[in-house]
Amino acid sequence: MAANGETQPAKHQEVGHKSLLQSDALYQYILEISVYPREPQPMKELREVAILNLMTTSADEGQFMNLLLKLINAKNTMEIGVYTGYSLLSTALALPEDGKILALDINRENYEIGLPIIEKAGVAHKIDFREGPALPLLDQMVEDASTYKFWDIAKCHGSFDFIFVDADKDNYRNYHKRLIDLVKVGGVIGYDNTLWNGSLVAPPDAPLRKYVRYYRDFVLELNKALAVGPRVEICQLPVGDGITLSLRII
Ligand code: SAM
Ligand code: CA
Repeated sequence: MAANGETQPAKHQEVGHKSLLQSDALYQYILEISVYPREPQPMKELREVAILNLMTTSADEGQFMNLLLKLINAKNTMEIGVYTGYSLLSTALALPEDGKILALDINRENYEIGLPIIEKAGVAHKIDFREGPALPLLDQMVEDASTYKFWDIAKCHGSFDFIFVDADKDNYRNYHKRLIDLVKVGGVIGYDNTLWNGSLVAPPDAPLRKYVRYYRDFVLELNKALAVGPRVEICQLPVGDGITLSLRII
């Protein structure tokens, strides 16, 4: 209880819970004991071809996504923000042979850097890559579900089991407004980077990189909106740079 009589939210030490991740060494331990030894060879190769390491999904998050997709028996999926395809490959390897990924990115060149590795892994047939900004295509899918045929799926509404969002953070809330109708009830949307380099709790004068500072407010707003979203249940996990899983319930 604060001096003014108001109840303050409990700090994490007070509720007896501490993040297990107390150090970089512990993170390294997770990677070395549980992640790298089990990381499929093509995913290792993809990590190596990615020019901007900063952009790529981390190996532990890739492993997490792969397991999650298997746990929920995902078959029809979407990814917004492909880059060279690390999370895409992790998804493609998790899906059954007839699984599908609608993959959206404004840049095909980067996708093509990783594509030979995805092809060699024998999973390229699961991917429908579309170059261009995601929002107009989502609008099209929401407005006229019959115009867009994703292989045998004539109907887009409620047809996706899993959607991974890892693109322009200033559009996440716009994406959510569309994706909530495209994902099925019981399906999951994963929003990536919801801890945004730890900048969300940085003091106002903290020396943040320009792009981190620019997108910070959008991530803060997204987190607030997801926390009270009436059609979803959520869980924000400190994996990678933070991933918020959002389960559509209505
Ligand atoms: N998921 C990728 C991986 O595991 O390597 C990383 C994605 S990277 C962080 C973000 C990507 O979003 C970039 O490839 C960028 O071209 C793409 N992007 C940015 N704005 C976009 C938009 N409006 N529509 C679609 N893709 C966009
Ligand atoms: Ca990311």
